[in-house]
Parts: sequence; structure tokens; C-alpha cells
Amino acid sequence: MGNYAVIGYPISHTLSPLIHNANFEAKGTDDNYAALSVHPNHLPHIRELIATKELTGFNVTIPHKEAIISYLDAVDEDAKKIGAVNTVSVDGDILTGHNTDITGYMHAFLDAFGQAERRVLIIGAGGAAKAVHRAHANNGDDVTIAARRMESFEQFKADDFNPMLISTITGDEQFDAIINATPVGMKGEDLLKEMDIPKALVSESTIGVDLIYKPQKTKFLEYFLDGHYMNGMPMLVHQAMDAYGIWTGKKGDYEAVNKKYEDHIGGKS
Ligand code: NAP
Repeated sequence: MGNYAVIGYPISHTLSPLIHNANFEAKGTDDNYAALSVHPNHLPHIRELIATKELTGFNVTIPHKEAIISYLDAVDEDAKKIGAVNTVSVDGDILTGHNTDITGYMHAFLDAFGQAERRVLIIGAGGAAKAVHRAHANNGDDVTIAARRMESFEQFKADDFNPMLISTITGDEQFDAIINATPVGMKGEDLLKEMDIPKALVSESTIGVDLIYKPQKTKFLEYFLDGHYMNGMPMLVHQAMDAYGIWTGKKGDYEAVNKKYEDHIGGKS
């Protein structure tokens, strides 16, 4: 039996137990997954927590994704490149960090839109933007990241993207895909209006991705045609299934988890 968990602070709103337990149920295992509240002051005691809870693997969420790295024995290349870990495998005393936000996002994107070399605009330059950038850069895409402050780019460990200020977007630029990696839209805001981004940036063929999953369809996604947009839910489920793959070497049941999630939200948005 595997004991898994997500650590974060605060942790009460996490959907990870719902997702992972739905997968365990679908796979017919008696593994379990808990949400553990870990105050930043307690992160240095992570190995004691692992021993007490007999954890065989765990996820890491805000605010520990960067700080956890100094307590690990190894970190995979992509997680190192963005300086953030969301999944840790426990192999005896050896703790290894991974980032399945990167792989989960790309699984979701390619499932929805297929493989191609694209010109991609990421709006926002925080933690999620770094994962999305790494995913598209690894895919060979031409990535532009737009932030409201140039200082945001100082936090990036990589420079394989075009930095720009949101305020300088004219609408004449050509992008095949636009990704919202900010929280703007969670409260019903219209991202383009809020940031004064011209609607001309979106054509009939432009792909729109919002990392937000609640509401299910933000005002930003309403600018894109059917079949050309995706919310943040497939990324969320895929990052969990990729973590399960790292811990067990097995493929998670994406469809079963997806159904459980849809039942859970029950059409609420
Ligand atoms: P974060 O690290 O706090 O970064 C947020 C980014 O948005 C920052 O660059 C911030 O700019 C920018 N921003 C916030 N308000 C803005 C505004 N009014 N105008 C312009 N820029 C603004 O957060 P995060 O972890 O990257 O998360 C971003 C979003 O992605 C959240 O909605 C989160 O829920 C979602 N997310 C989804 C998934 C998924 O699996 N679907 C995974 C991770 C994150 P400043 O630095 O200038 O404030």
C-alpha cells in the first residue's frame, strides 16, 4: 500500500486528494492520499514527517515548491531549470524532486491541440508561467512571456524566451496560442479588458488556454472559437497522473479521474 500526500500552507482548498483517491479507486488499489498542512517553519523537519506518515511519495504546493529543493537529494533537469518541484519520490532515504506541472501541462495541451511548432504568448510571469514556458520551450515553440513588470523576468533561470511588457502589446503581433498564467479571471474579470490587450490579438485560429479551472470558462476563453480553447482542469489532472506515474511506474486513469472531478463540481462554475 502506498501512502501519498500533498504538503502546503494553507492546504484546505486542494483538489489533489479528490483526484488521487479517484485514481486509486479506478486502479483498484488501497493506496491513500492526504492533504497535510505544513507551516514554512516546519519544512526543515520534512524527513521526520515522511517517517511519521510513512510517505512513499508526495506533492508539494504553495508556498513550498521552491523551498523544498534544499531538502532533497536530487532534482530532475526540468525542475532544476525552473527552480520548482511539485512532486517528490521517496526511495528509502533518497528524496528526488520532479515537476509534473511542466509535463502535465504539455500532455493536456498536446491532447487538445496536437503537435506543431507554435508561436506562443504566455501572460504572467509567476510560478505557473515558468512551468508553461519550460513545456513549450522543450516542445520547440517560440515563446514570448508578457509581464506587467520587467523585474519579474529576473526570477527566471532560463532566457530562451522573448520578454515583453503587457502594456506594449499592440494587437499586431502574431501568436498561435495565448496562455493566461495569471489569476485574473477567477473573479469574473475579462483578462483582455483588465490588461488593456487589444482583441485583434485573437484570430479565428488562435488557441486560448486559461490555467484557471474555476470558473470553468473564464471571460478570456470566450474570445476563442469552439475547439480552440482549454481551461486549467486537464493540466491539473495530468500533473497528478504524471506524479502517480513517477511514484508507481504505472499509468493513471485520466478518464476516471476526469469523470469524478466533473461529478464533484456538478456543473457548478
Ligand atoms: P503566481 O506565482 O502568484 O504568479 C501570478 C502572476 O500573475 C505574476 O506574474 C503576477 O504579476 C501576475 N498577475 C497577477 N495579477 C495581475 C494583474 N492584475 N495584471 C497583470 N499580471 C498579474 O501564481 P501562479 O502559481 O503562477 O498561478 C497563476 C494562475 O495559474 C493561478 O490562477 C493559478 O490558480 C493557476 N494555476 C493553475 C494550475 C493548473 O494545474 N491548472 C497550476 C498552477 C497554477 P506580478 O508578479 O506583477 O504580481
